Amino acid sequence: MALLAPSLLSADFSNLTNAISLVNESSADWLHLDVMDGVFVPNISFGFPVLSAVQKHCQKPMDVHLMIVDPDRYIERFVKHGAHLISVHYEACIHLHRTIQTIHSFNVKAGIAINPHTSVNLLEDIIQDVDLICLMSVNPGFGSQKFIDHTYSKIDKLKNLILQKNSKALIEIDGGVDTTNAKKISSNGCRYFSGW
Ligand code: ZN
Repeated sequence: MALLAPSLLSADFSNLTNAISLVNESSADWLHLDVMDGVFVPNISFGFPVLSAVQKHCQKPMDVHLMIVDPDRYIERFVKHGAHLISVHYEACIHLHRTIQTIHSFNVKAGIAINPHTSVNLLEDIIQDVDLICLMSVNPGFGSQKFIDHTYSKIDKLKNLILQKNSKALIEIDGGVDTTNAKKISSNGCRYFSGW
């Protein structure tokens, strides 16, 4: 069964309460929050004031995807702002294992996101320690982009690695997922979608 997590980026920010209510009433499993810093990605999305507002109304688990440099500086604040799962980027963490330990120390689930150019093989020595791997199926930073086709082969490689390492990690596909490709992605063994 696939899990669905609509992204807050798709919301009408002039009426956030309504947008959150729509998610609460929907069959969505989680709410995906794309935090961008304008440094790791060439765009800025939103920060703590918006998360505070979301936290007040959201009844779904908050899946926070940090597209920021040096995420360690902010993990505790994201936990206090209601994150149930925090994903950091492989490309943004020099001491990734320590970062994952820090997230888990707050009893929050930890995920790793990788950009389209980053090989799944690089996760070999960390996959047993995380709850989720987020494969970016577009280049992070902007919505409404086309799904990158080679993501399908990355899903295959990731599934094999998860089995090989006896990892419990969920596979998340982020970006460009719509009704035309969701079925194919799901049949490739992906159990969790977020995206724009
Ligand atoms: Zn995301």
